[in-house]
Amino acid sequence: MIMSLVVEFYGVRGSLPFNISPTETAENFRQMMFDFFNSGFTQVSEFDQYIKTKHIPTLGGYGTHTTCVSIESKKTEIIIDGGTGIRALGKKLMKKEFSSGQGECHIFMTHFHWDHILGLPFFEPAYVAGNKIHIYSVQPEVRTFIETVLSFPYNPYPHGWKCDVQFHILLPRTEIQLHDMKITPYQLDHPDPCWGYKIESGGKVYSHATDTEATRVSRKSLGLDLPFYQGVDLIFFDGQYTLKDLAEKINWGHSAAQIGLDLAIREGIKKIVFSHHDPLANSQRIKALERQTEEYYEWRIEQARRNKEQINEVDWSFSYEGQRIELK
Ligand SMILES: [Zn+2]
Ligand SMILES: [Zn+2]
Repeated sequence: MIMSLVVEFYGVRGSLPFNISPTETAENFRQMMFDFFNSGFTQVSEFDQYIKTKHIPTLGGYGTHTTCVSIESKKTEIIIDGGTGIRALGKKLMKKEFSSGQGECHIFMTHFHWDHILGLPFFEPAYVAGNKIHIYSVQPEVRTFIETVLSFPYNPYPHGWKCDVQFHILLPRTEIQLHDMKITPYQLDHPDPCWGYKIESGGKVYSHATDTEATRVSRKSLGLDLPFYQGVDLIFFDGQYTLKDLAEKINWGHSAAQIGLDLAIREGIKKIVFSHHDPLANSQRIKALERQTEEYYEWRIEQARRNKEQINEVDWSFSYEGQRIELK
């Protein structure tokens, strides 16, 4: 039974898929074995029990695929972006009515950088005649962009998708209703135009802020895009960089967790997941980002306590592939 909104991350990497080398895999395995025995376990039969004591990324890392997220309400499901993660999502859909050409799905595009379209040629439901795929975008060139990616010489399947495709051009900051979901695009701060989506259903709200440098943070500078950050239960926020990276990579279009945390604290966002992890960010580097974010958050709490100010508490974490969050 679907609660108000269920958000599932099929790809949380940015720019390029992440690869872990065989040497690094072997080293991680060595460290895991040390940890297993140091934690007091001695038998192979205790391994399932050991795994249950760990946060998934601690053992398995944060994932390899680029951006793709599914958002499910009681009556419908939408997909945001077609990064390499969409391949696994397509396989899940093929277990339903999509295998017989009876499926209908909705893909909302934020923008058309490679990491957000690379999985589209490998989206299996699109190769079954009869299925309907709706593609939504604020960018009016959406049809040309998508058809180019799906055609020769970019697509290994020379005849392209076989399903019925319909393109829908959205108006900025204007909501559309899809069954029991309300979806509104808001502009993000990225070198090419990039649009985040605010999704509301059953009284719960999810905002998707991938690929943003968040150069506009004050309420005044956000202007018409301020509602994107207000009344939000969960936000997916671009936390690709450290603060040092952010200072050095001006106009690269990505942000840091501390910037998202400040926005979340100010606007009362309940939960924030940092995402669009850098292709060079292995588990150790993301854990370092987690420690920096923890220090910053504690500092903010301490400052508020000293100044006798009320502060909105925020549940924050770094996203991982396969993570599923239910908003009830
Ligand atoms: Zn990206
Ligand atoms: Zn981008």
